Amino acid sequence: MKKDLPTAIGVVEGIKNGSLSCEDLLSKIYERIERSKLNCYITLNKDAALEKAIEVDKRRNEEEYGRKKLLGVPIAIKDSITTKGIQTTCASYILTGYVPPYDAMVIEALKREGAIIIGKTNMDEFCMGTSTETSYYGPTRNPHDPSRVPGGSSGGSAAAVAAGEAVIALGSDTGGSIRCPASFCGIVGLKPTYGFVSRYGLIAYANSLEQIGPMASSVTDTALLLEVISAKDERDSTQVKLNNNASTNYRCSWLNDGRSDTIKGMKIGVPKEFIEGVSPEVGKAVWDSVHKFEEFGATYEEISMRNLKYALASYYILAMSEASSNLARFDGLRYGLRSGKDEDWHSTFSRIRGEGFGEEVKRRIILGTYALSAGYYGKYYLKALKVRTLIKNEFEDALKTHDILAMPTMPFVAFELGERIKDPLSLYLADVNTVSVNLAGVPSVSIPCGSSEGLPIGLQLVGKYFDEDVILKAALSV
Ligand code: GLN
Repeated sequence: MKKDLPTAIGVVEGIKNGSLSCEDLLSKIYERIERSKLNCYITLNKDAALEKAIEVDKRRNEEEYGRKKLLGVPIAIKDSITTKGIQTTCASYILTGYVPPYDAMVIEALKREGAIIIGKTNMDEFCMGTSTETSYYGPTRNPHDPSRVPGGSSGGSAAAVAAGEAVIALGSDTGGSIRCPASFCGIVGLKPTYGFVSRYGLIAYANSLEQIGPMASSVTDTALLLEVISAKDERDSTQVKLNNNASTNYRCSWLNDGRSDTIKGMKIGVPKEFIEGVSPEVGKAVWDSVHKFEEFGATYEEISMRNLKYALASYYILAMSEASSNLARFDGLRYGLRSGKDEDWHSTFSRIRGEGFGEEVKRRIILGTYALSAGYYGKYYLKALKVRTLIKNEFEDALKTHDILAMPTMPFVAFELGERIKDPLSLYLADVNTVSVNLAGVPSVSIPCGSSEGLPIGLQLVGKYFDEDVILKAALSV
């Protein structure tokens, strides 16, 4: 494990005052990636990135460059986010060779602010998984113990930050995919409020649930990256326009690195259903953090959220139903995999999808199609939607009387590679503490709060809609 890279804030300062060479920093990162056995990246952007770094070093004194919030910061991008001119596969064989002609909105924002894309990171195929083991490109390994999984589905992004193969990273989170790997790799990962960050250019898995979000080694870097990617975008109609100036306008200037009293006066709810059944070490680390918050002047109360036991079932029915519809566009005809002879449309469609999708993706398309089919729609999909409303109401109620909720991100530390992948249900169960947050749409951050057997434990802090700054302030106290 190497954590000798500067923070994003440190990189920007160093480049601006001339004490850091962007080219040297990037070369060091690429050398490390090329030697690495972790398999964090699917595609590297080395030539273009180094060219950009040389330009940054040369022009750093120009006024325009001086204003850039992420000047010269090397960033890793999850491969579910489209990047113009850089292969984007979603870790699937069906999209291998696909080079998008456009950038996702978050990528446009990063480029505008001077960030440099190192490459595209490994993930579970189409974001479906909790361990980064369903990737067509092989699993990523956990930098703390290479025999363990890094979590998923944004496992490549999390492992890259933890191993010093990136300064910061982007992930996407449909049911825990930013927070789970952040927890397993010992970094900070934030899932924004639904509608906070534009999804334009995010390859959809379950679009009513997912958000792109920041992953970093510090709370302050997380806030800075969030500020950049939450810029207003007309192309995503689900992006919420706050206030009259029709912009999310998030600013992280309130952050004061290192302060521990930012949690003073906050009321914290600890829902007992989230702690029941987690490993004793995880439970202890979470309670230790809550008691630390108390020492810093916060108050806490144990609460109950009775409908949480239905969250996993509701999430998986909704996510698979949406996936079955979203993934219909991958037919190999317009882009991506195109193999073999020309046959009639039906056989071409079936053959390409049969060859192009992995086992887990096929399982979800089949289950999702079943849940949506005539005769079963009311029994599964509609019922899952109703449960979603109950869970949303329960979060809203709990957050009326509390500023934040605190709970473990994952029920245990990173497990062994191969341990759960053969039993899909055991993997789905690992998401028990993360999926309900996506069903409700509230923001949530995972922060390292201890370790067990040398493996990191993550604390999850959940806030009211658009209270990203509140959960980040609280996270500073962990
Ligand atoms: N593990 C969950 C799933 O497989 C969540 C994945 C995600 O957030 N993309 O659906």
